[in-house]
Amino acid sequence: MPALAVTKRRAKKAPRAVSETAAPKIEVPTERTAEAPKKPTTLTLLDFFPQEESQQTRVSRFFTELRAGRFMTTRCPKDKKLLWPPRVTCPQCHAEELDWVELPQRGHLYAFSALLAGAPLGMEADLPITVGLVDLEGVPLRLFGRLVGAPWNEIRVGQRVRVEPFDLADGRVFYRFHVEG
Ligand SMILES: [Zn+2]
Repeated sequence: MPALAVTKRRAKKAPRAVSETAAPKIEVPTERTAEAPKKPTTLTLLDFFPQEESQQTRVSRFFTELRAGRFMTTRCPKDKKLLWPPRVTCPQCHAEELDWVELPQRGHLYAFSALLAGAPLGMEADLPITVGLVDLEGVPLRLFGRLVGAPWNEIRVGQRVRVEPFDLADGRVFYRFHVEG
């Protein structure tokens, strides 16, 4: 059995050498010069919505509406359940023809937290990072998101916040909550 294992391992080596020569050439920058434009850092960590276009996702309407200033989600026409995040299928009755409905853009802060040190990789420059749970007015939704508009140590539970769309450096759009003074 050990002999067989050794044989298998050796047999694998040969094709790997072939595939290495056939692999597409990848350019690796050897030296960073002072003139070289800095590429914006692309964060993939905690990126739950990497695709926003209609060719990529059936909830692309959420992003196009958000860009136009409307905060939307889906609701099941059968059981009237308000779904968050926007979905293509009702998790309760499996209906696939869901309605798009506009959500209120104001709410109250249910809870919040601030990250002052130990940021995830690539987010060090963003410290302090403040995030919170927001109860939207008039609907049974408690949403998570980043809080902006006030220093973390001036934010209070119960404070009013509003949805704020913002443009990402890579061309996408997303939302955050702006604390109202
Ligand atoms: Zn349903």
